[in-house]
Amino acid sequence: MAAISAWRLCHASIRSCSQASRHLSLRTQQQQYRYFSGTESTLETFKVFRDVPELRNFRKEIKRNDRSVGLVPTMGALHEGHISLVRQAAAENHDVFVTIYVNPTQFGVHEDLDSYPKTWDADMKKLEALDTELAKKEGSGRIAAVFAPMTRTMYPTLPPSSELPGKGSFITITPLGNLLEGASRPVFFRGVATVCMKLFNIVAPEKVYFGQKDVQQTAVIRRMVKDFHLDMEVIVEPTTREADGLAMSSRNVYLGARRRKVGILLYESLKAAESQFLKGKRSRSDILWMANDQAMSVRNAQEELPPHQRALFDVDYISLADPDTMEEIDEVDTSKGAILSGAIKMMPVEEPQEGEDCGLGNGKIPVRLIDNIVLLPQKAT
Ligand code: AMP
Repeated sequence: MAAISAWRLCHASIRSCSQASRHLSLRTQQQQYRYFSGTESTLETFKVFRDVPELRNFRKEIKRNDRSVGLVPTMGALHEGHISLVRQAAAENHDVFVTIYVNPTQFGVHEDLDSYPKTWDADMKKLEALDTELAKKEGSGRIAAVFAPMTRTMYPTLPPSSELPGKGSFITITPLGNLLEGASRPVFFRGVATVCMKLFNIVAPEKVYFGQKDVQQTAVIRRMVKDFHLDMEVIVEPTTREADGLAMSSRNVYLGARRRKVGILLYESLKAAESQFLKGKRSRSDILWMANDQAMSVRNAQEELPPHQRALFDVDYISLADPDTMEEIDEVDTSKGAILSGAIKMMPVEEPQEGEDCGLGNGKIPVRLIDNIVLLPQKAT
């Protein structure tokens, strides 16, 4: 937290808190948590919570004041994709809660939990800048709280297991959570559903915000909200992309220039398949061959280059699936549409050159990229 501008004591009530008694009961927490932007501005901004009881008290106060809460769960390392979710949440709610927690149970035993980027100071600055902007916008909600718990807070009974089957209290959504990303990362959706259930219970938001970028995750969350009768609305926001179309992701910092340039093939392959659908093709083979063909030709071209120039990758899957079940389909039902999605694994950079930008981790870390395109339902003619 070194780079964060000063923490100051605050004796103000939360926005719109009217009753003096409630005001008093909140004061202790506010003295601990109210975060100010220091030298740049004197605007009040959000509170940071690490534990559940204080956050719940804050939430209850918001409810008593008839204010709505939108929740944006993240693992930090915030980029414009995350920011777009917060913006939308602020447009639709009085108060936005952003959670920053790298959830260990969604990483397999051999996955990249330790190397997941953690950029707390930069994240706080981004949220602070956004909140300052929101404060100036008439009628807009604000970021009210950041919840950044420790793992012992999120998993109070046992140290969480990353094994399958693994001991612990888990939410599993099957078979949806075992397909596609779940096939490659068997504990992933169990971890995601479990941590989201915990966050939903802690924050009790009216609306929760997720990115289209992780399309199967949105299907899992929608299913969980439906099947467990959770009283909240799931909002899905479009994928935010770089200028060339690469989907923004916290993991992109590991790519470096060589893999970054080649990695765009995933989106381009999906776009090629989408163009088939837009031309009226409806069968799996007619749509998917374009994506497979494009991915294979990029791979062949890379394989022909010398090791110091190439960026090799494996295609994990290219899928055409039902939007609700994520099960593979042979034919697009135009009344429902479909999801085109894919995952590739960019291999470590071979023979890095003097002065070459190999990204964080010096090109040694394999980078899994996922992306998708929604094939929208077509109106009957
Ligand atoms: P993460 O921190 O990667 O777990 O992501 C937190 C939320 O941000 C999830 O709902 C993601 O789907 C969403 N998200 C991540 N990248 C993007 C993106 N490029 N565009 C839109 N939403 C995104």
